[in-house]
Amino acid sequence: MKCRQCEKTEMIEKKENHHYRECGLDNVTIVGISVRRCPSCGNVMPLIPSIEGLHDALAQAIIKKNGPLTPSEIVFLRKYLGWSGSDFARNMHCDRSQISKWEHGTVEMSKPYDLLLREMVAGGKKITDYQRAELIWKRSIKSRPLRLKLQRKVWMEAA
Ligand SMILES: [Zn+2]
Repeated sequence: MKCRQCEKTEMIEKKENHHYRECGLDNVTIVGISVRRCPSCGNVMPLIPSIEGLHDALAQAIIKKNGPLTPSEIVFLRKYLGWSGSDFARNMHCDRSQISKWEHGTVEMSKPYDLLLREMVAGGKKITDYQRAELIWKRSIKSRPLRLKLQRKVWMEAA
């Protein structure tokens, strides 16, 4: 396949681990997907199968994590729910400026809002009471690296 950017060279396809920055989170690696690279202009084109399933797996991992949601996780979850900033404000019963503060990290989301957002994302696949009760809430906890791999057509966390 010719590179769409420079329209000169054939792209070279290889299996790689892809640092999935496109999702807005910086701690996500997808393991062993096909990535096309252009040897001339450096254009990189990851071929991600079943993106919807991948985002389901990421959202589930985020709502079960310890520590407060980070601004980029909040943005990811809002988009995952298919909400604009205004939709988010309406559903969280707060105003638009509050949303912006959370998403830019100028104000940390308080615990009840954080839990509410997690519950809304959990939807049908409820966070169990046990998991919710066990969440550890320390600001010092950093989001751990997430490595996802497509296994028998289902995105799962890789070992
Ligand atoms: Zn190119």
